[in-house]
Amino acid sequence: MLTIAEALDLVREHARPLPSGKVKLADALGRVLAEDAVSNIDSPPHDKSLMDGFAVRTIDLTEGTADLSVIEELTAGEVPTRDVGPQQATRIMTGAPIPSGADAVVMVERTSQLPDRQGAPQVRIDDPTVRPQQNIMRLGVSIRRGDVVLPAGRTLRPVDIGLLAEAVGGAVSVSPQSTVAVLATGNELTDAEQPAAGQIRNSNGPMLLACSQQAGAATVDLGVARDELSDLTDRIRQGLKADVLVMSGGVSAGVLDLAPQALASCGVRQVFHKVRLKPGKPLWFGVADHNDHRTLVFGLPGNPVSGLVCFMLFVAPTLAALSGRSFKATQASAALATEFTQRSDRPVYWPATLDPRQSVATPLAWKGSADLRTLAEADCLIHFPAGERVWSAGESVEVTKL
Ligand code: AMP
Ligand code: MG
Repeated sequence: MLTIAEALDLVREHARPLPSGKVKLADALGRVLAEDAVSNIDSPPHDKSLMDGFAVRTIDLTEGTADLSVIEELTAGEVPTRDVGPQQATRIMTGAPIPSGADAVVMVERTSQLPDRQGAPQVRIDDPTVRPQQNIMRLGVSIRRGDVVLPAGRTLRPVDIGLLAEAVGGAVSVSPQSTVAVLATGNELTDAEQPAAGQIRNSNGPMLLACSQQAGAATVDLGVARDELSDLTDRIRQGLKADVLVMSGGVSAGVLDLAPQALASCGVRQVFHKVRLKPGKPLWFGVADHNDHRTLVFGLPGNPVSGLVCFMLFVAPTLAALSGRSFKATQASAALATEFTQRSDRPVYWPATLDPRQSVATPLAWKGSADLRTLAEADCLIHFPAGERVWSAGESVEVTKL
């Protein structure tokens, strides 16, 4: 049986990065920047007013006071046509460019309108604390043309999308996003509100879709296939349109474990079946190539914890590789909180809580690969090597954080 590392190498060999492309900013949330985003503008593009008010020359104001002629009115989007000269002001709105000659903006609340003089509007300024540059944002203080505003590798948040819209506009290069189709299998699975005798709910379908989404993939839900070849092959063929098909169940040794057979009849070539791992031994992996399109197929064991561990160990790094991203498993060392006896012919991933401040891991009373509830209480999985051994409290173990 393959070791985890050998199996992972085989998966990696088959995972070719997908081509990257550009997406419109409206579609870029959560995507990963493929290149540094470089600004093609200065921002602001001109010295701009930060207030609705009057652009003035502070030299004209004695203790902040003067009566001035208003020579022009500028709203955001307009450009000045007149310089502000002695005893003059331009009425200006937030965002509009500061006209030449002016060196400050006085907010409208500190001004009052006077009667027109010789047909020209007049304003009284009364701003005792006025100083040069007040209420003006200088050209380029926020962004300079050529600045790297966001680095390659950034997962885009709403604020990043806003910044890109300001500095770059239009569309950005992002890492490719793989499509993952998820297919649960099993005659026992039901979505009925009350499962009947012998039935259970489908936990793996929603969980594996969520895992895929969290890994940045676009997902396709293929529902539940019954344990019969025709239903399996119909849905597998749908799944082969995706970059990755993740199946759950049907890869163990039961009489209705038909996934490998169904996959073979759909032209999926088996690369390996079974890995020295607990939980997760029945893991199946294969590849289907049709024309230029390749689908990687993971047949995960049906037991939910096994499926989740296999996803973490094998599928998540694959999705990163397809997207050309580096994959960082969050591994750490921790001290065991209690004595723990471990016996298995395979390496074991055991659910545990983790006190991150003291790096202490406490193994949980896990009831095995069907016990998803205990996994939901865990912060990490402790790796125990194969073999039989009594681990003492305080011994150092490797953990993968969840
Ligand atoms: P299998 O790998 O198909 O033999 O399934 C192993 C165990 O996992 C059985 O107890 C199944 O009932 C259970 N199982 C299979 N698929 C799912 C699923 N989608 N959700 C929850 N449990 C499942
Ligand atoms: Mg089954």
